[in-house]
Amino acid sequence: MREKIVAGNWKMNTTIREGKKLTEDILRGIESVPAGITLVVAPPFTHLSSVSGILKDRNTPGLAAQNCASADKGAFTGEVSAAMLASVPCQYVILGHSERREYYGETSEILLEKIQRALENGLRPIFCVGEVLEERESDMHFQVVSSQLREVLFRLDPDDFKKVIVAYEPVWAIGTGKTATSEQAQEMHAFIRAFLAESFGDLAESTPILYGGSCKPSNAAELFARPDVDGGLIGGASLKADDFLAIAGSFA
Ligand code: PEP
Repeated sequence: MREKIVAGNWKMNTTIREGKKLTEDILRGIESVPAGITLVVAPPFTHLSSVSGILKDRNTPGLAAQNCASADKGAFTGEVSAAMLASVPCQYVILGHSERREYYGETSEILLEKIQRALENGLRPIFCVGEVLEERESDMHFQVVSSQLREVLFRLDPDDFKKVIVAYEPVWAIGTGKTATSEQAQEMHAFIRAFLAESFGDLAESTPILYGGSCKPSNAAELFARPDVDGGLIGGASLKADDFLAIAGSFA
């Protein structure tokens, strides 16, 4: 059976105190999450050590960073390397989020570098892909997503590809309250899996493909019931422990 994952992307929200409280609130309710579901939290860089201290000695939630540098180390003021993240320790890193692509000009070339740094340091990338509204409306969404996958993931060795988690996040659904229907999500997830199989064969059967975009307790069950939707990357709703836990509890 494929791994089921619910990951919370806190983005640039919470102070350290608030982030610690959120983590503690999640841990208090963690018994409600069915066995076999991997929970992951992705706080801002500044909170990683504090949150890691709270998670110490627990198997879950795992800890993710929201980004890493494309360079190894050196004179890159303000950057945070994959080795630094691994030393926290983080186990995951979100890469290719549409906000990074749009506001910080992260191209496929840069993302390939970042994924390689992450993998070299033992981090599992959560690699985000997705189309903007105009691309969906002009029926370009499959082409856009396949290019995003081809330009980055197809350059990886199969052994590295095995560690990758994909997140399909239609940009028009992120933070807008507008969720993809479960049919739209399933259609794209099945397409992504079939496309990945062109390069990686059977390995694509084991790749977790998460849905992201205004996922909340009221729609998670329907999305997660689809055969190729292996969980969610959750933004806004991950900032409330109860909502995050309810989403994680939505697998049938
Ligand atoms: C995200 O940014 O990864 C995301 C899914 O955000 P939201 O859930 O707020 O739409």
